[in-house]
Amino acid sequence: MDDVEIPESHPRYESLLTRHRIEAGVEKGITSQQGLIAQGRGEAYDYLLGEETIETADEAARAAAAHLLSADHAVLSVNGNVAALVPGETVELAEATGADIEVNLFNRTRERMERIAEHLRDHGAEGVLGLEADGRIPNLDHERAKVDADGIGDADVVLVPLEDGDRAEALAEMGKTELVVDLNPLSRSAQTATVPIVDNIIRAVPNVTAHARDLQDASREELDAITESFDRQAALDAAEAAIRSGDLD
Ligand code: ATP
Ligand code: MG
Repeated sequence: MDDVEIPESHPRYESLLTRHRIEAGVEKGITSQQGLIAQGRGEAYDYLLGEETIETADEAARAAAAHLLSADHAVLSVNGNVAALVPGETVELAEATGADIEVNLFNRTRERMERIAEHLRDHGAEGVLGLEADGRIPNLDHERAKVDADGIGDADVVLVPLEDGDRAEALAEMGKTELVVDLNPLSRSAQTATVPIVDNIIRAVPNVTAHARDLQDASREELDAITESFDRQAALDAAEAAIRSGDLD
């Protein structure tokens, strides 16, 4: 692909790869310059988490997989950072769970929407929603409210990685089951989520896919048991404690 040569043995391999992908995303016109700042914020939390998936984030990933598998209509929302960092991984998650993919941007422009949709198709996506924008999320300003009526508008379960707080709250108010990936456990997005996955999206999306594959043949009862036993507040508290203690051993 367009990844630079970074030796995998480099102690900060993942972080360097991530930066390169975001930078390439900006160059290709799929990631906004604001996206660079968001990435920087995320990295600081990830550093303090030890750049690893903590146990409660893994439990959240499993609960998210169970929600996606038991949904009537699940949609994975993709913004410029998600498209730059995990395009192929998002397509794999959609395939493993039967979810749709919808492009949704904070700074929405037709050109960037189309570039992201094309980028996702280059990574194997079949249908990419988001360009119709014929549905609205109540209580948001016009541009931020746009969704596809037969995509996020219709979904009962939505995965919104790196979503901004306002939209996350508005989607939750619509009664949707919201699965959020955000490295900041204190952000409003994580705080409003039914399932907050406090982990780097680069690790979280493949992890949700792995859990979904593992749960492929699980019964409805087994899936319900997983979603019901997940404790969102405990997961947020554990992530905050891990970041605050910042034990880097
Ligand atoms: P708040 O939610 O408190 O209002 P915000 O949403 O305005 O804050 P932004 O900088 O807009 O803050 O959001 C970016 C969010 O995405 C941050 O919380 C950051 O931790 C998170 N983030 C950035 N990169 C990643 C990543 N690679 N994986 C997971 N989360 C990330
Ligand atoms: Mg936020």
